[in-house]
Amino acid sequence: MRTDPWSRDRRAILGTAAVGHSGATRSSEKRITTDLFPRSASQGRSPQEIVDSFGYSIWTKYLFVRGSVCPECYGTVDVTKRGGQPFVVSVNQCRECRFTVHVPVDVIVAFHPVVIEAFWQHGVSLLDVPLWRHFEYTTGDSWEATVESTDPFATHVTITLDDATLRLAVADDLSVTQVGERA
Ligand SMILES: [Zn+2]
Repeated sequence: MRTDPWSRDRRAILGTAAVGHSGATRSSEKRITTDLFPRSASQGRSPQEIVDSFGYSIWTKYLFVRGSVCPECYGTVDVTKRGGQPFVVSVNQCRECRFTVHVPVDVIVAFHPVVIEAFWQHGVSLLDVPLWRHFEYTTGDSWEATVESTDPFATHVTITLDDATLRLAVADDLSVTQVGERA
């Protein structure tokens, strides 16, 4: 019996997003993340509980690759980028087992401490918001991302929550820094 945990039939595409190109009428649909669907994920859970469990497991995987650690074998991950306007995806692939985690750059921005704190002040706990609901923020009016350069990569994100505005920059190494705030 084949037990290869990386076989494609055990993967589920958990998130795609139809994102309109600014200034254009057509839209595109891109894969933003994939995840494994182990049998144990469905044991003893209702359909909604299965969905909720993925919401948390995705963030856990993000926390691993945030530290360049593979969430499957703890090997080292290498980071590349894909995409462009309207959004860029960080591709984190393990050198050892090739496990790959795709993370939208908007998620990396969202988990900068100042952004987590700003959302918390507005009644939203980001760690309790699953990835697909997270897009309600990053594709909405409160979130404006502008890719200013692709090589080297540079983008600015402006987040407006009620009367507070945060401005952050993402560098080529995907590090995020706060560059402005207006309360
Ligand atoms: Zn690995």
